[in-house]
Amino acid sequence: MTEEKLQEAVSRLKESGVRITPQRHAVLEFLLNAEIHPTADDIYKALEGKFPNMSVATVYNNLKVFREIGLVRELTYGDSSSRFDCNTSKHYHIICDECGKIVDFHYPSLDEVESLAEQVTGFQVSHHRMEIYGTCPNCKKELQHH
Ligand SMILES: [Zn+2]
Ligand SMILES: [Zn+2]
Repeated sequence: MTEEKLQEAVSRLKESGVRITPQRHAVLEFLLNAEIHPTADDIYKALEGKFPNMSVATVYNNLKVFREIGLVRELTYGDSSSRFDCNTSKHYHIICDECGKIVDFHYPSLDEVESLAEQVTGFQVSHHRMEIYGTCPNCKKELQHH
């Protein structure tokens, strides 16, 4: 499944004329396997052993390329660093208040909210974002033990 996704992503990069370097391939592979919505720093830390010449800036550049092609979405949360999501299908996120973990949450898109907002405010709605917050199963366990 992930292998298939990886091949698909690689061919999309090639079609867009993006050169596939080993680092770029590794960043892409990491993203597709990661369900944690990593930050650029997370990716850097995971791969620096394998690519001693890689810097956080390289990771950022790769992510920028992926974002421009539409392979990843950048999620921004206030001041904290962006997280990257390679699940580009419509979904919502649930976020742990304790550890900051973000998990995908599938629910039919709330399109009614968009049309309601349009009617009420006269805005032309482009998209909406919804986040649910709580304590993840791991942190819940941790908290119970203390
Ligand atoms: Zn947690
Ligand atoms: Zn997601």
